[in-house]
This record gives sequence, structure tokens and C-alpha cells, in this order.
Amino acid sequence: MFVRELARSVSALKGAGRAAAARLARIGILSVADLLLHVPRDYDDRTETISFRDSIARGRANTAGTVTAHEWFGFGRMKTLKILVDDGSAEAALVCFNRPFLETKLPPGTRVRVVGRFERKFGELQSTSFEVDPEEAGGFEPVILPVYPLTEGIAQAGLRRLVRRAVDEYGSMVEDELPQAQAARLGLMKKADAIEAIHFPETRARAELARRTLAFEELFYLQLAVRRRAAARAAAAAPRPPRQAGSERRLGERLRERLPFALTADQEKVLAEIRVDMGSPRPMARLLQGDVGSGKTLVAFFAVLDAVAAGGQAALLAPTELLARQHADNAARLLEPVGIRLAFLSGNVDDAARKPLLAALESGDIDFVIGTHALFSNGVEFRELSLAVVDEQHRFGVLQRMAMSRKGRSPDLLLMSATPIPRTLALTVYGDLDVSTIRTMPEGRIPVTTHLARHGNEAKVYEFVRRELDAGGQAYFVYPLVGESESLGLRNAEAMREKLGKDIYPGKRIGLVHSRIKEAEKRETMAAFTRGELAILVATSVVEVGVDVPNASCMVIEHAERFGLAALHQLRGRVGRGTRKSYCFLVYSQKITEDARQRLMALKESNDGFLIAEEDLRIRGPGEITGVAQSGSLRLLVADPANDGELLELARSEAEAVLATDPELRSPANRTIRDVLERAPPFTESASGS
Ligand code: ADP
Ligand code: MG
Repeated sequence: MFVRELARSVSALKGAGRAAAARLARIGILSVADLLLHVPRDYDDRTETISFRDSIARGRANTAGTVTAHEWFGFGRMKTLKILVDDGSAEAALVCFNRPFLETKLPPGTRVRVVGRFERKFGELQSTSFEVDPEEAGGFEPVILPVYPLTEGIAQAGLRRLVRRAVDEYGSMVEDELPQAQAARLGLMKKADAIEAIHFPETRARAELARRTLAFEELFYLQLAVRRRAAARAAAAAPRPPRQAGSERRLGERLRERLPFALTADQEKVLAEIRVDMGSPRPMARLLQGDVGSGKTLVAFFAVLDAVAAGGQAALLAPTELLARQHADNAARLLEPVGIRLAFLSGNVDDAARKPLLAALESGDIDFVIGTHALFSNGVEFRELSLAVVDEQHRFGVLQRMAMSRKGRSPDLLLMSATPIPRTLALTVYGDLDVSTIRTMPEGRIPVTTHLARHGNEAKVYEFVRRELDAGGQAYFVYPLVGESESLGLRNAEAMREKLGKDIYPGKRIGLVHSRIKEAEKRETMAAFTRGELAILVATSVVEVGVDVPNASCMVIEHAERFGLAALHQLRGRVGRGTRKSYCFLVYSQKITEDARQRLMALKESNDGFLIAEEDLRIRGPGEITGVAQSGSLRLLVADPANDGELLELARSEAEAVLATDPELRSPANRTIRDVLERAPPFTESASGS
């Protein structure tokens, strides 16, 4: 693909002026190559003839006929031409609004091809939305037309012409990027053929094979890059200090004795996996995923104890101060009693406290530090960081995770995610991580019941919540905005705190937390809610992660359509954490998009974070879910991880097979692969993130 000519600007194409080039640039099409890879989102299949007679039942006509007469109706400037066409099955009228020029172009007797939507009106079959072409124009061959994603100012027909030109002039220059033998063995097309066929296929089957070919190629290179990155990391690992075996388990045993419950089978399983990694000379790189409340943190604490018992230090990084504090409180409760020396570090820790803390970390007087981004700032030194745990890892960029691991000599890395990553994505993006999964919840959890309510019917919801509050429960009310905003008609946390207090729940104690409230005040409010002194917590999505108040039994989310599926699932995870039967109410606006409707339904129908994540991937595409788009590492043009699971597995095993026999890609057979990887690394890491 990377022949020099293909890198030319699209403006090199006839028919693409500067204005068109600027418009195309808006959807990422700069070069001829970009245009060739602008794949259709669908096809308009005109291979099947649909006569006028069948056009109403079938939704449209796609037929050939003869112009029988012209008629005019209306007067003056409103005068409109009507062309009558007979295709043998029936006569139909083409109402030519704003197309008077068709009078001379299509005189009676002309053979024409007609595609359009027809309805029965005023006793005749007529259409105002149609395409008509005379026979000579060559519009007669049955064709499958590409339907492209568009941008303003670029019409479907114009873009088709442009792509046609690009394919005709440059298509043959496209080089294969898969070794011939491999493509043949897998039944894939040559790349040049695939490019032509994905735009202008003769049959739907050929279009599908073309897509498969291009998607496989993308995934194959992605997998190669991911595997090689993993190999490079293993090779670059600094020699690790020997672990003191033996004493490990004692700290863990003490924690077990203090717990009022036993670990679940899944927790035991993942802990065993982690322990194997931590005992091996190769540094761990493991993703621990499990739904909200499945008990990941506790597993991480056991790993921390192992690290400390073996003579090292551990760090836990959380994306928000609220969550970091929650972890610190839990650690104080569970780990301090077994003898772990803890510290908390965030941007809000003042200099007076920070200095001695940093000194203690460096000298090894602290075993386990919990904090936010502040943990990987300069000046934070460890005596021997041997385990770095990153919670809600998708909120951090790749580089930030790496920065954490550079604080030690190849420390073990444990990434936790409560947004379960569908297997397909895990393979795509985290292909170089090992994955442990907690699937089952601790026993005794009562599933949360979810109800949908339209704005206008929220009084019923408020009434239900009142009964819960009167019975001793607590409730969250979540809003998309902090305060009044430009965008009209959206409820916000500040105003609703007033309204709920004055009009709906007078006499109930209500707290407010959002991003603009000072940390200290936020902390105090959270603590009061945790102690049960507040009945209601009004909030924005700041309560999405980490907040753990078992007595809270109602989650009301207003303008639920404004939240993503993962966020809604996380918010819902704030209730159902104790012994009370819990409820989640999704209150949505009168007008919502189809995507939003699907999100709300998905949530209503399932409590399973894995199913929801798959659904999210399907509705939204992979980009945002894992924060990969922002880390610049995933740019798939053709492949779709949500639907190409099977192809992804194939790409993975093919990549593994190649690297197993030829890790450096030196053999002549792998020359193509090596060249492509060198020319255009498909998997690059770039700095960004929160
Ligand atoms: P996660 O980090 O996966 O969201 P946590 O580790 O915060 O989940 O656990 C959620 C709650 O469940 C905590 O209150 C924790 O003490 C409790 N918990 C963890 N493991 C168990 C278990 N095996 N049985 C009962 N409760 C558990
Ligand atoms: Mg958690």
C-alpha cells in the first residue's frame, strides 16, 4: 500500500478540487491511499430488478422501461414536469420537481432505467424521489453501488466518482502486504483486487471476501505488533532482586483470618494466577478484570501482602482522589492490623506532609502507598517497588501505566478494570497482557432491579424512593451537569439539590458532590453519607467509581440518555452492595436517539457487566471503551473487533505461528511482513490520556 504515488494528496485526482479536498480531510481522507481505504458502510444492491408493479410492496423500483408521455401541472414558477414511464408491468409517473431539463433529455420513446421509491397517489403510481438515466448513459448494467460514510458538502454520487477514479488510476499500484502463500492458504484475495472489490463488487460475496481480506491484514499486523511489544518488554526487563520465598504466605494468612467471609472460588483462582506470575523471574503484566463489586481490590491486597512479605514495596494508583481515598480507608482497615505501613499521596497532600512521606518511601519505611497521578510525578522514589497496581486502568494512558512500572526495577504490574473488556478487544489491544477474570460475585448479593421512566413520570420514581428512605435506605441522585449551562432544558446537580430539598423531600438531609466542590468538603460529605447521616447524595458522575456505601439502595439517574453504557453500569454498581434489595431508575428525556434507547434497554435487561460491555462495543465501536483511541494505538479502518472475533483469533494464531519460527522476521519468506512493519508500524504508543 505504501507506494509513493498513493501518498499523493486526493487533490491530485481529477474532479477533486481544493474545496473537496478540505471537506474530505474532515473525515480523515488526505491521500489517495486514505480514499482507497474509505470503505463503504453498506451497499446499494441494484442487481435485482424490481418492477413498478412490485415497487410498493418491495420498498422501491429498480427497473427499465420506455418514456410514454410528458405532462405538466401547476402554473408559472410552480410548473412541474411529469414523465410517464412504462416498464411492461405498469405505468408510473416521475414527478420532476426542479428538474425541468429532463424534458429535453428524456423525450417520449427514450429507453430509461429507473430507481426510486413509489407511492400510489391521485390514482397513479408516482415518485418524487428517483434516479432516472437514459439507456445510452450506460446506467443499465445491474450494479452494486458502494454507500460511503459522508461529510457535509460531499454527496454519495460525487464520492463514488472520485473513488472510481482513484481505483482506476492507482488501484493497480497497491502492493500485497500479506505473503502470497499465506493469503492463498487462507483463501484471501490479492490486496489490489480486494481494494477494487470492496468499492465496486460484482457480487455481495465478493464484497465480503474483500472486506475479510483487508480486515485480516489489519488484525494480523496489529497482533504481530502486540506480540513483538510483549517480547521486547520481556527482553528489556531489568534483573530483579531475588525474592525471599517462604515468609510470603504468612501475611496473607493473617488477612484471611481477619475477613468475615471466605474468598470466592474465582478470587482464589485469580490470586493463584497472580502468585505464579509474581514468583517467576519475568515481570508480571496482568489484567485483572471483573464486574463492579466482584472483589478485585481484595485480591490486589493479597498480592500486595505477598510483595511486602518478599521484601518489596507496593503502590496502588487510582484515577480519582475519591477512589484513592476509599482504597486507603480499606487498606487501613484490612492491612494495617496485619502490620503493613501505609501512606496516601495525591496532589492535595501538602508539602509539609509530602516531604517526610517521600523520604519514608525512599528509605523503605513505607510498605504500601496508595494515591493518584501524583504517584508517578518526579521526586517519588521507592526503595524497592516490586508491585504496581493500577485500578480502573482504562482511565490511564499506556504511557502513564508504563511510567508507574519505571519507578522500580521491572516491578510486577497488575492492572484492574471494572469495565470488563470483551475478549475480542482484550486480544486486540491488550494482546500482550495476561488476563485474569472474576466472573462470579460474592454470595448473598441481591441483583439490582432497573426501571426506566420518562421525564414527566418521575414523580412515581420520587415517591418510590421516599418509601425506601422512610424504611431506612439511602439514595443517590445523579445528573449529567454540575450547574446551569447553555444547553437548554437539562437538569443539573446544583438546581436539583435545591428542588429535591425544598419540594420533594423536605426534612430529609441531602448532600451534594461534584467536580467543582473542594476535596475537603467532598470528603466530608461522602463520609457523612457513608455514616448514614445524609439520606440523599446528589451528584454528577464523580460517584461512578469506588464509592461503597452498602446501605444505599436507590440510584436515580436523570437524563440517563446522556451517559454512556459503561458509566451507567458503574453508577448502578453503587447500589446493591449490602443486604438491602436495591433499585436503579433511569429517567430519560422525551426525545432520545436510537443509540441511547438501545443503551437503556441493554441496561434494563442485564446486570452482567460482560454482556453490557459487549453490547457497548457493538453500539459504540471500540474506540472510547478502553481509552485506546486516546492512546492512539488502535486505528482499524476495516476490521471491527465487535464483529470480527473469529477473524481476530485467526490473525492472532497466524501471528503467533510466524513469530514462533522466526521471531526476528529474518527469513526471506517473511520479507513482506518485515517491510510492512518497518515502513508503517501499525501499533504505536503515544502520550496522552487523562
Ligand atoms: P471491586 O474492586 O471488584 O469493585 P471490591 O474489592 O471493592 O470490588 O469489593 C466489593 C465489596 O465486596 C467490598 O465491600 C468487599 O469487602 C466485598 N467482598 C470482597 N470479596 C468478598 C467475598 N469473597 N465475599 C463477600 N464479600 C466480599
Ligand atoms: Mg473497584
